[in-house]
Amino acid sequence: MQVLFNAFSFALCQEKCRVCSEELKVDLVGFLSGPKRWKELNRTTLCDSCFFKLELEPSSLKIVNIEDMAPLLVASRLPYHGPLKKMLYHLKYDDDRLVTEDLSIFLDQALDDLSKMVRVKNCILVPVPLHWKRMVKRGFNQAELLANPLAYKHDIRIDTRLLTRTKATATQHQLKKKERKTNVQGAFQANRKYCEGQHIILVDDLLTSGATLSACAGELLNNGALSVNAVTLAYAMASRQRG
Ligand SMILES: [Zn+2]
Repeated sequence: MQVLFNAFSFALCQEKCRVCSEELKVDLVGFLSGPKRWKELNRTTLCDSCFFKLELEPSSLKIVNIEDMAPLLVASRLPYHGPLKKMLYHLKYDDDRLVTEDLSIFLDQALDDLSKMVRVKNCILVPVPLHWKRMVKRGFNQAELLANPLAYKHDIRIDTRLLTRTKATATQHQLKKKERKTNVQGAFQANRKYCEGQHIILVDDLLTSGATLSACAGELLNNGALSVNAVTLAYAMASRQRG
């Protein structure tokens, strides 16, 4: 139903590529072959030219292992540069739901990769939480928006009660590597009542040094979680500096 709605709103409103502003053409003949197939073939917010600049990585798995922090496996397929930067901006600051839907396809591919290595069935998706002040200012958590289509497609539960951000931290990718670790120390608080005995997959938009995800994982494991791994839409870490 959502696909149907998107197709008609797309045709009527004439959507533009969120990166280069070119008018997107709708393939209505393709749509008649079935809404599901149409969605597979068509992006509603990104033109072909910008799509092919995304540089998808064949393997998305990365090990994050920072000294004195909890190690975890993170799946992330897109490097944070080029058209993706603009797409993420629309996701984060414009609450553009069509962008979220297009980007969630890549997050879904990352989850598929993660499922080859760790238990995904019966796990709980936990979006990395925002501090309440930022939540009030922005009005939504982009990590939660990205997690919703995954939960729906794979019939996995999302639970935002497991983890709270108790410290308002600076944006990670603007900090130096050493500062990122101290920035997130003590920033999260887990609720033992909900995370005890659970397998957890964290969801976030961007992986930088991995310090945020490691801080979340450490807090969840200290409160009884059995395993914690993560999927992110993009990564901004240099390949030789991972961890
Ligand atoms: Zn474009």
